[in-house]
Amino acid sequence: MTAITPLVTDIAALVFGACVGSFLNVCIYRIPEGMSVVWPGSACPSCGHRLSWWENLPILGYLTLLGRCRQCHKRISPQYPIVEAVTALMALALWRHFGPGWELAAYAFFTSCLIVAAFIDLKHRIIPDLVTLPGIAAGLLASCLLTSITCLESLAGIIAGGSVFFLVAWAYELITGREGLGGGDIKLLAMIGAFLGWKAIPLVIMVSAGLGSIIGIAVMLMGRGGKHTAIPFGPFLSGAALLTLLRGNEIMTWYLRILSGE
Ligand SMILES: [Zn+2]
Repeated sequence: MTAITPLVTDIAALVFGACVGSFLNVCIYRIPEGMSVVWPGSACPSCGHRLSWWENLPILGYLTLLGRCRQCHKRISPQYPIVEAVTALMALALWRHFGPGWELAAYAFFTSCLIVAAFIDLKHRIIPDLVTLPGIAAGLLASCLLTSITCLESLAGIIAGGSVFFLVAWAYELITGREGLGGGDIKLLAMIGAFLGWKAIPLVIMVSAGLGSIIGIAVMLMGRGGKHTAIPFGPFLSGAALLTLLRGNEIMTWYLRILSGE
């Protein structure tokens, strides 16, 4: 019995996550277009074919259709199953990390905002205020309910996240004469500060810069872009925030060990 129960709850977390991921896809597709995320139901963007319940199933629908619309046979973006799979895995990771409680609910909402921001930034090079501003408010509100963070730490996180990035963006533009970081990145980091607190901000910036450099060099080596190819930074900030949320202590320990030369 005890061996079965964790497996059942793990599977439930994955299925629940995949369904949330399906809704996040709707948000990623519709928020930049200024469309409602609740109505109407999903349809093929090419021919308008309304999806039946089984075509709407997360991941399985895409696999059954072999990645093409049933009516017009146009390719369906792999973004759909990717977002569903990422959200499913994150749901499992959050469930295992937090277990049932307010923390789980708050950080599941936070993770959803990060996934939507990252994928919209990848597609459109923008991070809509409609994602980050309610996210900042939700983070501040959640900090009143959570035991892991105080309201003051959350408020300081919003100010630290917003101002640090604003200064970096300003200095970058002053030195290079080009805009490197957008206002969307600044508000995204303020949202991350709201949920993780001011103490997490340096680590999030460090990890996102590390991730960004690795991917940036990889893109250059593959010959996919020059030295000045703009890579959206939102996905790295989002990834770094999730790593900090789930593995912040381990990353700090590892980093301090490297610094001390052990
Ligand atoms: Zn179609």
